[in-house]
Amino acid sequence: MLNNRYRSTPILSLFISLLLSFASAAGLVEDHLVEVQILSVNDFHGSLLPSDTTGGAAYLATYLRQREAENPHTLIVHAGDMVGASPVVSSLLQDEPTIEVLQLIGFDLGVPGNHEFDEGLAELQRLIYGGRHDATSYFAGMGFPLILANAVDKQTGDPILPPYAIRVVAGVPLGFIGVCTLETPSIVMPGGIADLDFIDPVEAIDRWVPELQARGIETIVVLAHEGGLQLKDGTIIGPIADIARAVDDEVDIIISGHTHTYINGTVDGKLIVQAGHHGAAFADIDVVIDKTNGDVVTAQAEIVKVVTTDVEPDRRVAALIARYEETVRSLVDRVIAVAAHDITRAQTRAGESALGNLIADSQRHVAGTQLAFMNPGGIRTDLAAGELTWGEAYAIQPFGNTLITFTLTGDQVRRVLNQQWQQQGDQIAVRFLQISGFGYSWDDTRPIGDKVVDIWLEDGTPMSATARYTAVANEFIATGGNNFTVFTETQDRAVSHLDLDAFVIYVQQLPQPFSAKVVGRIKRLK
Ligand SMILES: [Zn+2]
Repeated sequence: MLNNRYRSTPILSLFISLLLSFASAAGLVEDHLVEVQILSVNDFHGSLLPSDTTGGAAYLATYLRQREAENPHTLIVHAGDMVGASPVVSSLLQDEPTIEVLQLIGFDLGVPGNHEFDEGLAELQRLIYGGRHDATSYFAGMGFPLILANAVDKQTGDPILPPYAIRVVAGVPLGFIGVCTLETPSIVMPGGIADLDFIDPVEAIDRWVPELQARGIETIVVLAHEGGLQLKDGTIIGPIADIARAVDDEVDIIISGHTHTYINGTVDGKLIVQAGHHGAAFADIDVVIDKTNGDVVTAQAEIVKVVTTDVEPDRRVAALIARYEETVRSLVDRVIAVAAHDITRAQTRAGESALGNLIADSQRHVAGTQLAFMNPGGIRTDLAAGELTWGEAYAIQPFGNTLITFTLTGDQVRRVLNQQWQQQGDQIAVRFLQISGFGYSWDDTRPIGDKVVDIWLEDGTPMSATARYTAVANEFIATGGNNFTVFTETQDRAVSHLDLDAFVIYVQQLPQPFSAKVVGRIKRLK
């Protein structure tokens, strides 16, 4: 824990930092005070390449090395979601490229975020400990441990990964405990984590603090894939602040993630940091520890932005990424199916498109629901006749949206369809959802909110207003995107496939060459 004698008195800590800089210059700091540097990254999401002039693993590596050169007593850690929802260069190779890059940069430790569970516990364990995957080949595993105290085996109650790790820096032991957001079970595919229980992070941390103390550890750092928000006045709010307040005061530092924001402040005497996302920044935490008793004298942080125009990329990291880009090229170019004719997103006057039908059909097929809804804005380009490559399919749906299944009533279907017409100032915005499993008619002479006339199921029978139907939509509209707020009222929500994966699975199993047409699912009466 932070040593109370020094923690709350700014003048005294100023005195100490003055003393330290003097002592450091005089080489005296080694005597009983040591400065440990912890560099941390969160929510990297496989962002190996820069976005404009920010981020990029090769640039991030240069920054981290520069900081390391300033203080040899350095650890590099992460707070989760380093993989998952990644760009093609990483995602197509099961995120193995990102893990190799993190290893090359020299990460010492990390915690799994919710996205590390995207493909289930078995795949996470393969990435940690090594194993074979059809999409790649043999992977040797992660060269550094992931720790997680609050995901436990349902049967035994034991953590599924080591709950903590100890690292000795400059002769001082530091204890790290990992925890992950309690949201995880609701945002990853349930099947992949069926044997796990996620328990309260506070309970999980407090369970292991005494064991670390019993091992003589006084400096305790929590890697928490859980977030919050820092207000303009510096106040930190949200789950991470609640954790800081509730947890054992032996905890000194909390490295946060998940909310993709910037945090640098204290709650209940504990330093909390979060460094944005996608490798566009990192946190540099400087901890002064008294070697005689292991107590933290001061802990402070700086959030450093990664700007590509300010440094040279690290050559080895850049070379490794270039090699993966080359590997992925052949996967991106691979032919997944053959289209009999052009299939476009051009809508009829009624609002239906052939490509919209194909995509909605793909979602309903993989999710096994009665109905499907697809937002037209999520279809980014047309599908050309002939060989369809994976890269072309990616260009049609590049957002990496997760599909969500749910149930809704016939009345809710009618209300969400009527939300396709929205008054925006003097204008009426019209957005025709692309649909599967049902059809409907509409009349433009009727008022906004009541344009839909008849709704029928695939077999032609009328949809009942009170019956409940299973349906699928991507997370964007399922969470009320494009003002389709009725979707947020739906029930029995569960996570299904990624939209693009669903599309690839579907078109691959169609008779080739495959076809999709406008078939009158949407009928305009007037
Ligand atoms: Zn997250």
